[in-house]
Amino acid sequence: MKSLRFECTGCGECCRKPGWVFFTEEDIATASAFLGISPEEFEERFLETSDGRYYVDVPEESACPFLLDDACTIHSARPVQCRTYPFWPEIVKSPGGWVRERKECPGIDQGRRYSWEEVEAQLRLLKP
Ligand code: SF4
Repeated sequence: MKSLRFECTGCGECCRKPGWVFFTEEDIATASAFLGISPEEFEERFLETSDGRYYVDVPEESACPFLLDDACTIHSARPVQCRTYPFWPEIVKSPGGWVRERKECPGIDQGRRYSWEEVEAQLRLLKP
């Protein structure tokens, strides 16, 4: 199977895209501990909820609330959705998905090469 190259340049572009960033219970526990607040306070301050799922809602022309000066302020405690980008099913498994995403992320096709086994390990992390 194919291998893929990716290395984050730290440009912060993906953090400025509108959309939802989901936080699992484990993500909430990790991020709230990192910030030194309770999971409940973290949920109240930063997250929306729908159908039992928690997420940060990034509106149009805005940015993730954890982005400051182009850097993620919870980087070492960021949620699995962010940690696994750009190895998401809709990007690596759909025809042309990787090439399309290249326009959004300058780290794609740069730097470290990931074997397909490594990509699949990232995909597995995303499974609920
Ligand atoms: S858009 Fe790509 S290179 Fe820029 S911060 Fe996000 S992952 Fe890194």
